[in-house]
Amino acid sequence: KRVPLIAGNWKMNLDHLQSIAFVQKLAWTLKDANHDFGVDGAEVAVFPPFTDLRSVQTLIAADKLDVRFGGQDLSEHESGAYTGEISGAFLSSLDCRYVLVGHSERRTMHGETDEQLSRKVSAALTHGLVPVLCVGETADDLEQHGPSAVPVAQLKAGLVGISGSPEIVVAYEPVWAIGSGKAATPEQAEQVAARLRETLAEVLGDDVAAATRILYGGSVKSANIASLMREPNIDGALVGGASLDVAEFASISRFSK
Ligand code: 13P
Repeated sequence: KRVPLIAGNWKMNLDHLQSIAFVQKLAWTLKDANHDFGVDGAEVAVFPPFTDLRSVQTLIAADKLDVRFGGQDLSEHESGAYTGEISGAFLSSLDCRYVLVGHSERRTMHGETDEQLSRKVSAALTHGLVPVLCVGETADDLEQHGPSAVPVAQLKAGLVGISGSPEIVVAYEPVWAIGSGKAATPEQAEQVAARLRETLAEVLGDDVAAATRILYGGSVKSANIASLMREPNIDGALVGGASLDVAEFASISRFSK
């Protein structure tokens, strides 16, 4: 059984002081609602900017909060002359459990390629981080190649060089649905998620495919989470805008399957 994962990608929002206030309120809100972390309820994770991670780590450890966290990116390199980059080793020593890899904003604004992203997936695994590999097609891709061709190709490319039974998470985020207020329908998201799971089975085998959580991302809010979560191949959500509002994000985290 896959434990659902509700993940909040803060992008470039909330500084380290705001991050503490946010995580504290989030944990209280979930607790008040008797959120049953990891049992019937979803695992809840936030992805703050790098400069917040130490504060978030300290707060979560001190108050034993049921919230996980991770970085929004990592370097493919270990250490060295890479100005501005952050190594997986640094994230792991801050107790990050997850790291986003290949978010569409990194692919388009920072020119990250599939080859580079497969090295980032490897780097994450090397450091005991769970990579959340993001894939998704643009509106143009959808028109030219149909719904699943590009996400499937990105997943295959991202897994090059990976073997064994790694813990990874796949986030399907159609680019046309990100920040547009126009989420994919549950049927659309399920169709692609099912193809991604087949791809995982082809590349890493049935057991890994069955254990891997596939998230949907793109204009997720409390009003549409329940219908998405009803789909058999959707195991959670990667939430952008709506993850910046404590009440809204907590309510997304308490979807009922
Ligand atoms: P929105 O939820 O704002 O559409 O963003 C989705 C996203 O990019 C999460 O990584």
